[in-house]
Amino acid sequence: MGNSTKFIFVTGGVLSSLGKGLASAVIGSLLEARGLTVAIQKLDPYINVDPGTMNPFQHGEVFVTDDGAETDLDLGHYERFTNASLGKDNNFTTGRIYNSVITKERRGEYLGGTVQVIPHITDEIKRCIMLMSGRSDIAIIEIGGTIGDIESLPFLEAIRQLRADLGKENVLYIHLTLLPYIATAGELKTKPTQHSVKELRSIGIQPDILLCRTDREIPADMKAKIALFCNVDKDAVIMAKDVECIYELPLIYHEDGLDEKIVKSLHIWTRAPRLGNWQDFVDRFKRPQFTVTIGIVGKYVDLTESYKSLNEALYHGGIPNDARVKLQFIDSEKIDEANCRETLGHLSGILVPGGFGPRGVEGKILAARYARENNVPYFGICLGMQIAVIEFARHIAGLAHANSTEFDRKTKYPVIYLMKEWLNERTGEMERRDVDSDKGGTLRLGAYPCRLNKDTFAFEAYGAEDISERHRHRYEFNNEYMEVLKEKGLVISGTSPSGGLVEIVEIKDHPWYLGCQFHPEFKSKPMKPHPLFVDFIRASLKNTRNG
Ligand code: GLN
Repeated sequence: MGNSTKFIFVTGGVLSSLGKGLASAVIGSLLEARGLTVAIQKLDPYINVDPGTMNPFQHGEVFVTDDGAETDLDLGHYERFTNASLGKDNNFTTGRIYNSVITKERRGEYLGGTVQVIPHITDEIKRCIMLMSGRSDIAIIEIGGTIGDIESLPFLEAIRQLRADLGKENVLYIHLTLLPYIATAGELKTKPTQHSVKELRSIGIQPDILLCRTDREIPADMKAKIALFCNVDKDAVIMAKDVECIYELPLIYHEDGLDEKIVKSLHIWTRAPRLGNWQDFVDRFKRPQFTVTIGIVGKYVDLTESYKSLNEALYHGGIPNDARVKLQFIDSEKIDEANCRETLGHLSGILVPGGFGPRGVEGKILAARYARENNVPYFGICLGMQIAVIEFARHIAGLAHANSTEFDRKTKYPVIYLMKEWLNERTGEMERRDVDSDKGGTLRLGAYPCRLNKDTFAFEAYGAEDISERHRHRYEFNNEYMEVLKEKGLVISGTSPSGGLVEIVEIKDHPWYLGCQFHPEFKSKPMKPHPLFVDFIRASLKNTRNG
């Protein structure tokens, strides 16, 4: 369809956390199921230039794309639900928008004119949105925040203007709202929705479709009332009922006519959607034969949003194994030698996820040791791999107090450290890190190639020699210790193609013990579960049955 990309803008009302990101992803999946191609972008109203530096406690996971952009976790939903390829152009924040306007102003590009929110900021927002034009049949643009916030106003003004710029038939506004159930009245209430739409209309946007979050069926007369009060078509009030499994959403939105209404409103003729694969996934998800309990030993245990992709990847890994994966978050600061068995003994498998900083590291090392000594499947991701190396160095290779220089700058055995020079095999260039300058802080971000060695857990899982996975870390395996660790039985099962960077380690004579320097969870999809997660769950399931 080339240049005639049509745009769907998704806004949210009433309150946050209604699942606007998921809704946008689901809209994408439904349109793909009809044979259309989609692009998805998220516009975030906060001032941080990107979420890279934001505290996971506040913001949840940072999702990393192939091109190394650190993005909002909603992009993870987009990738899991659609085939859209995502990168740095798919997430803009207010901070990034202002940053580029101010840079232009400093360069004199505004020729001395007064630089203002309208038109300069709004024009820059429109320019970013239009990056999605021509890439696909449909571009879905999600506006972060809630209608009524001061912060999102420039974004709303920009999308309001775009309807006139692009033509009515090419633009659709979908508003996600809430119908709360009030127990004392015994009914769902429409007033917050009415107010939210009123607010939206007061800034010039008339929504075309309302997606109404609710915990129960919306009666037909209530739908009619919402349509009347909010000035939308009767068939444009779509029920978005709570679900047990997020992968049911394409099915239930479709059932209430969402995709039909979208294509009709945008004047697109498509085939009926093919949703068999979603139905199949949901059936398998809901009725598994087995159950495994995986312990996630980490830091952000109270806010599981910080491990969004990880949780999903574990659920995906359960499907081919016919298993329900139960997750148990364990605070590594609470693990000590005395309570190790009590805390970890009942788990089918142990996973140490990515993380930064020294807090709780010793507890994670204890968990890795427990898994190694008790034949419990262990999956170490990024920091979790580094932990496995430290544990092995200390307790098998006799390198007492071995550590990462991230946690102990002066350790005698820096088995994990900041590499001063390394070959970037994505660009073919040498990268340098000056440990004492800003550059020392540079993360290795995005997709890097990795070559696997045969006869390893990794090779068996992937069934391929060359793979590519996404990274987000500073520290690396220290090759000076490669020989002694290998001699004692550490298996280096994956490295960068030229061999300079260790990417995966394993131990032999164990049911399944693997640590990878990258984040495989970012690439797992419901229809394409990640091989390492599938095999980790398989081994954990076997452990349960043997136990
Ligand atoms: N803190 C470690 C590093 O920077 C691991 C990072 C991570 O787990 N994402 O190398």
